[in-house]
Amino acid sequence: MAEQTPENLVIIGSGPAAWTAALYAARANLDPLVYEGEPSRQMIPGGQLMWTTDIENYPGFPEGIGGQELMDRMKRQAVQFGTRVEMENITEVDFSGHPLRLKPSFSDWVEARAVVIASGARANWIGLPNEERLARTGGGVSACAVCDGAMPFYRDRVLAVVGGGDSAMEEATYLTKFASEVVIIHRRDSFRASKVMADRALADPKIRVEWNTSVVDVVGDDFITGLRLRDRITGAEREMEVGGLFVAIGHTPNTDFLKGQVELTPNGYVKTPYAWRTATSVPALFVCGDVMDDYYRQAVTAAGTGCMAALEAERWLAHHGVEQAKPPVLETAQSSVGQGEPIG
Ligand SMILES: Cc1cc2nc3c(=O)[nH]c(=O)nc-3n(C[C@H](O)[C@H](O)[C@H](O)COP(=O)(O)OP(=O)(O)OC[C@H]3O[C@@H](n4cnc5c(N)ncnc54)[C@H](O)[C@@H]3O)c2cc1C
Repeated sequence: MAEQTPENLVIIGSGPAAWTAALYAARANLDPLVYEGEPSRQMIPGGQLMWTTDIENYPGFPEGIGGQELMDRMKRQAVQFGTRVEMENITEVDFSGHPLRLKPSFSDWVEARAVVIASGARANWIGLPNEERLARTGGGVSACAVCDGAMPFYRDRVLAVVGGGDSAMEEATYLTKFASEVVIIHRRDSFRASKVMADRALADPKIRVEWNTSVVDVVGDDFITGLRLRDRITGAEREMEVGGLFVAIGHTPNTDFLKGQVELTPNGYVKTPYAWRTATSVPALFVCGDVMDDYYRQAVTAAGTGCMAALEAERWLAHHGVEQAKPPVLETAQSSVGQGEPIG
């Protein structure tokens, strides 16, 4: 590899976590470089919010804001303070020494003194063409009840939840606040969810379950009107009228490119060994957003941990004598994080 000066800080990703980390790092004169990824069927620069229309729960936008506009604003704010951006995936990493090494899809290996992983996660979908179409156009198909359940068009409607794990139970119970009825559609005859979560859902008078049933199509032109269901025992098909579909069959963290290089949880998320910290098992490597979080999965929590990762990376670099690591402009934001020892 040709001799090169290592980057101070490379950030991998392009959702709320990545742009917040970039904003803080740029304002701290770290000259961050973001690899925002390439567009593909499963991922798009800008992250998961690029697939959604109205966001009503990101603070500061009382009238709501479109997902693409929010991400465009976050990126512009980071770039305005000097963040450099490459539209490439990081396909491979080598964290066996320091500087850390990263391989972008089309260019040579890059070295970095510190790295922030903000590569996010993907909601799992059933995989039906009409499901995808209506999810992308805000047509009443969603993978997040907390995000979308309060939208006026779901009020007093029959809402379907697909899944049988804890997330499906949680989504179904949450949706009873708005729906006239919630129907959980599950392909087996018992739930995978923990007993306490399943019992809570089953005891709710607004929730009923369609057991041994698969969704084979989503019906509706601009907005969902129903589901085509198949009985998995008899094979019989029928249509059910619904006013919304919430798919709760899990998430997949974007960690394939990290395998074997950093400790992951049993579910494949990047592990953070210290509570309330974004440090990982690798020195100088920090993580933020949905790729470390299988619990909250919100834009605002991703942004919050993006801030934390940038501040921790900055402290790590300052502690290890990187000259560019000057105190951030926002002194108050830094002091609120605590004065613990640098981590890693
Ligand atoms: C349909 C839908 C609607 C939602 N609505 C809301 C809502 O209303 N409110 C809310 O708070 N939350 C909502 N969420 C959740 C929210 O989108 C996520 O919590 C948030 O986007 C997570 O941000 P993140 O920065 O961790 O990463 P992500 O948004 O997941 O983005 C990560 C991005 O990084 C890039 N990337 C991945 N791997 C690589 C790599 N190897 N190299 C380079 N780049 C890479 C990809 O472009 C990827 O898209 C919604 C989610 C979905 C799916």
